[in-house]
Amino acid sequence: MKEGGLTGGRASASAKRVFIKTYGCQMNVYDSARMFEVLAPLGFLPVEKPDKADLDIFNTCHIREKADEKLFSELGTIRQSKMMNARRGGKMIIAVGGCMAQAEGAEILRRAPFVDLVFGPQNYHLLPELVAQVLRSRGDRVVATDFPAEPKFDHLPETSASQGVTAFLTVQEGCDKFCSFCVVPYTRGAEYSRPVAQVLAEAARAVCSGVREITLLGQNVNAYHGEGPDGRDWGLGDLVRRLAELRGLDRIRYTTSHPHDMDDGLITAHRDVPQLMPFVHLPVQSGATRILSAMNRPYTADAYRRIVDRLRSARSDLALSSDFIVGFPGESDEDFEATIDLVEEIGFAQAFSFKYSPRPGTPAASLCKQIPEYVKSDRLTVLQALLERQQRNFNNGCIGRTLPVLLEKPGRHDGQLVGRSPYLQSVHLVAAERRIGEVIPVQILAASANSLTGSLEESMAG
Ligand code: SF4
Repeated sequence: MKEGGLTGGRASASAKRVFIKTYGCQMNVYDSARMFEVLAPLGFLPVEKPDKADLDIFNTCHIREKADEKLFSELGTIRQSKMMNARRGGKMIIAVGGCMAQAEGAEILRRAPFVDLVFGPQNYHLLPELVAQVLRSRGDRVVATDFPAEPKFDHLPETSASQGVTAFLTVQEGCDKFCSFCVVPYTRGAEYSRPVAQVLAEAARAVCSGVREITLLGQNVNAYHGEGPDGRDWGLGDLVRRLAELRGLDRIRYTTSHPHDMDDGLITAHRDVPQLMPFVHLPVQSGATRILSAMNRPYTADAYRRIVDRLRSARSDLALSSDFIVGFPGESDEDFEATIDLVEEIGFAQAFSFKYSPRPGTPAASLCKQIPEYVKSDRLTVLQALLERQQRNFNNGCIGRTLPVLLEKPGRHDGQLVGRSPYLQSVHLVAAERRIGEVIPVQILAASANSLTGSLEESMAG
């Protein structure tokens, strides 16, 4: 193809190159994969380096602190490539998508006037038209951050063959919960669940292409209430039961769930459906009911404990991970102690913990009792030490056990494969590459902070 790439007018079917950088959560990973699919019919082929692309997309996240600094630094670098490309007579399109684009599109265009296109997470199905608009425009930037009346899923092409044995599948998007620290309801919009038939069709295609494990995604995945084939609303438990009927689908996971939506249907699915993995990410955020209430989280610390009890009664080997925010405005020493108590009582196999950082436009950002940075840091250190100890203990507790492991990909060393345990731990072992995609019993021999090492059971070697 001609050096310089896109030359104007409607994008042709000749090969062009697209680079997508993904920030943040698994939903962005899923969205980026779908963006490639949307662009493929226009002749866009993926490339690994931004300076080699005709179209650079930055699929952003707005949750983490300093996300904007990272983005603007990347944009500054790619701007040089765009200028060099222009000197050769080409046109490189720079696009910013995702949650930060939705929340701060105007600011992005102000600080980075060389960005051609800004689009929100509900608009990426429009990418062909948006790219064509950029090409037609004479320097005008294109912005697509409205929430469309029809869900994007109705307009996306069928998913293409998966590249691996695990896949993400978005079943629910958006959020109506409005936790006082979170931007998601403003960036992803109102809660929406995809119809059951659409989800099943996508899952069946994934399994046909070799996928053995599907992780169902949603901002509030267990608030799922998609229209079932019988016309009634199906909950996530119903959906899991139906997915488990797909031949060849060995494992089902879901994330991220909300304690408020952990209903009987889903809890009994953990009891009845062996394909549903015994590992649940259930963010609690704080162990102090007073702080949960200030966060607008509609459950108490004791209600969270009861949900965990019910999950563990349904499936005794179930392990948990969680999210924690320390130093939320108004958090006292006693409140923080309540979080420590809850962690000690429940015991987590994994967890993510962060210092509270105000997100512009959220109610908590304007609360007056902000906690000093040094207090937040001290609390985070204490909490993370406890969580790391629990994770190490959990991993060490796997030594000597035989766990079913889904073999996913070659490892770093010759002859080594990497797989996943039911609890999402990476497991390293020696096995033949042709066994990728199998779930096999592995005897766990050693554990580190983040992974396990094992060997094939004698009877399964070969
Ligand atoms: S439940 Fe709360 S934290 Fe989760 S996406 Fe909704 S508003 Fe954000």
